[in-house]
Amino acid sequence: MSERPRRERLLPFLWIPAVVVALIVLLGVTFRNSFQLEKLREQSVVEATLTLANEKADRLDKSLIEQDNAVLALVDLEERFRFGADWLAVAARQTPTVRGVLLVDLASQGREIVGFASRAPAPEAEDFRRRLVYVLLPEMDLGREPRAELRHLHTTHAGQSYLLSYWQRDLKGRRHLLVAWHDVPRIVHDVFPRLYSDRDPHSRVNVVDADGRIVFGPSLSRGGFTLGRRFDTTLYKWRLNVTLISAEGLTAAVARRRRLEMALVGLSWLVVIAGLTVVLVAAARERKLSNLKSDFVANVSHELKTPLSLVRMFGELLQSGRVENEEKRAQYLDIIVSESERLAALIENVLDFAKVERGKAAYDFTRANVGQVVQRAVEACRVRAQRGGVELVLDVDPDVDDALLDQRAVEIAVINLVDNALKYAPESERVTVHARRVEGELRVEVTDAGPGIPAEDRKRIWERFVRAQTAQDGRVRGSGIGLALVKHIAEAHGGRAWVEPAEPKGSRFVLALGSS
Ligand code: ADP
Repeated sequence: MSERPRRERLLPFLWIPAVVVALIVLLGVTFRNSFQLEKLREQSVVEATLTLANEKADRLDKSLIEQDNAVLALVDLEERFRFGADWLAVAARQTPTVRGVLLVDLASQGREIVGFASRAPAPEAEDFRRRLVYVLLPEMDLGREPRAELRHLHTTHAGQSYLLSYWQRDLKGRRHLLVAWHDVPRIVHDVFPRLYSDRDPHSRVNVVDADGRIVFGPSLSRGGFTLGRRFDTTLYKWRLNVTLISAEGLTAAVARRRRLEMALVGLSWLVVIAGLTVVLVAAARERKLSNLKSDFVANVSHELKTPLSLVRMFGELLQSGRVENEEKRAQYLDIIVSESERLAALIENVLDFAKVERGKAAYDFTRANVGQVVQRAVEACRVRAQRGGVELVLDVDPDVDDALLDQRAVEIAVINLVDNALKYAPESERVTVHARRVEGELRVEVTDAGPGIPAEDRKRIWERFVRAQTAQDGRVRGSGIGLALVKHIAEAHGGRAWVEPAEPKGSRFVLALGSS
């Protein structure tokens, strides 16, 4: 085997794995990119939600602390008898969620309330005062030293939520506590809707208490983009939850896009695999054809050599003048004529086949007697048949008359069929050529009693260069173009050609010329 074909044959073993590796890398990169993109998107959604939650929670703290500062500014701690009067005058407008203000003397025995002003009805206010002293004050983070800054207490008692803002002050050397009593239900009913129902189409908000019960707003779907955070300073026992609505759409879009990307990658895989298959099949077919062609060249040369050497041998014998017997001389001349006819037929076969291959086969249709055309072909083979000891019988039915045909082509077709019968069925005692009409169709049937053609080969043998199992043992040389030519000639005449098994053994080749 030469170096080049081997290299060509090895090439697919290199480039197929290379293409597969490239595809896998492509798939990996696409996957990674898609995941990274999704992660980035998710991250930005999380960040956006967090910013929104912070901003919304801060809004409440800010609003309440603004009121606390107003309270501190309005209440004059020195004015015991008019305690809170200035605040009360403007409370509804300036500090709508503050129900009352109280001043507690922390230095006194029972932590006495020394100043009190309230917008609540008397019994409720009284109840709150008691609760402040016995329940709420102990919960406050007062420390050992007075702390001047604003602090908050957010707690629940008897099912009621309390929010107190408080400051410590030193008045005449005694520690005092100023308390602003916030109305929590009012915060829920007035402030939350004002702050959080701002018709933002991209987000939904709710507030839940320490036990996770919803205090305000709708229940939120537990999507990946819901974030919660506590209020920093005021209602610090509660949580604010924010869901980005557009994030739900975004998740669906991301999933859709990923599916699309996967489908595209799958499709490119399919295309590449289909392409590879086509290339491989085409390469294999091409290789097979090129092998067939080189076999063809070898076979044709060999086929030409045999009759040529016979012609030469008998020609030389006659030339030498050593053949005195007149009968022998005539026999030798017969052989020379028949072999040169065979040679001519072979060359014609090859030339005609080449024309067919190049699509240049041209037929010359004339009206002619079919019986005579077939007879000429049979006669061309007679000497060979006699030499092989085979009886060649021609049988032309009376209804076979004139038809429009290319005489030379039909002759070549019949010679091919008879020649094959003599070649592949030499054991036949007789080869019959029968010209007849069947349902208006003109047929030439060549029947031998040879080995026959295996069923699986009966179609294949009509393809160019294909030789059946009968020819595989190599004893009979051939080029594999004879039957391809017969088929082409039959089709050019509007007919077809086929082979069927003959009784009791052998094959019957049928050349149907259509109903002309
Ligand atoms: P070739 O004879 O040059 O090989 P053909 O196209 O004429 O090519 O025939 C194709 C194949 O069909 C032959 O190789 C042979 O195997 C098979 N074949 C043709 N005629 C006969 C026959 N009469 N009996 C058995 N096999 C045949």
